[in-house]
Amino acid sequence: MKITFVGTASGRTSAERAASCLYVETGSGNFLIDAGDGAARGIVRLGIPFHAVGALFISHMHPDHASGLIPLLQQFYLAERTDPLTVYLPASAAGKMEDLLSLFWMDSRKWPFDLRLTRWETGVPVRTGNFEIRPLENGHLPARGESFSFILREGGKQCVYTADVDGLGHLRKAGGRTDLLISECTHIGVDDILRFSVENNISRIVVTHIPDGTDTDSEMKKIPGGGVTLRFARDGDTVTV
Ligand SMILES: [Zn+2]
Ligand SMILES: [Zn+2]
Repeated sequence: MKITFVGTASGRTSAERAASCLYVETGSGNFLIDAGDGAARGIVRLGIPFHAVGALFISHMHPDHASGLIPLLQQFYLAERTDPLTVYLPASAAGKMEDLLSLFWMDSRKWPFDLRLTRWETGVPVRTGNFEIRPLENGHLPARGESFSFILREGGKQCVYTADVDGLGHLRKAGGRTDLLISECTHIGVDDILRFSVENNISRIVVTHIPDGTDTDSEMKKIPGGGVTLRFARDGDTVTV
């Protein structure tokens, strides 16, 4: 699986980075995880065709992870998409999405593709061919069913994406060997990420959700050695698992 960082910013708007969005290419289709502000523009900038996106996975409804959804859906119908599109959403959003679309004078019944709005079921994976994404409820938002981290699996390889978390404790449930950890660094520090990785034998880390002004050089000095690699993602970077 190949993961492209479409947007790597923190919650603050950045001149250098778009808000959170990952593009995941697998042997069983291509997917977007999160669609923060600038997601549609980021996709165009990276030359990703809109029709290549098979489904959207939204971790939680904070604007820096989901406010790009409406412009993105607009691009799908302007691109005359015909393949069905499923958007996996937190519980409350799945029920309100049609109302939100109508606020923007968008009527999905008139679109050339079938829009399917589906709520995440905690721990229940979504599978397409050999690819699987499993939502792990995390404590970032106070209500149940509203905020998720993800375990991505394909061909015996596993990647964990934290999305937003206020601690890494819940990720201990991720289980199995994790070949890559993609962690945010807005709500947790690099020290915590490294400690968690060492405790869980994770040697490959990419950090995203990066506030402007982060002194990445000093943060990199905290890497303990012993084969652990950590890098700070930039928009457009790719990583293969
Ligand atoms: Zn965030
Ligand atoms: Zn958040």
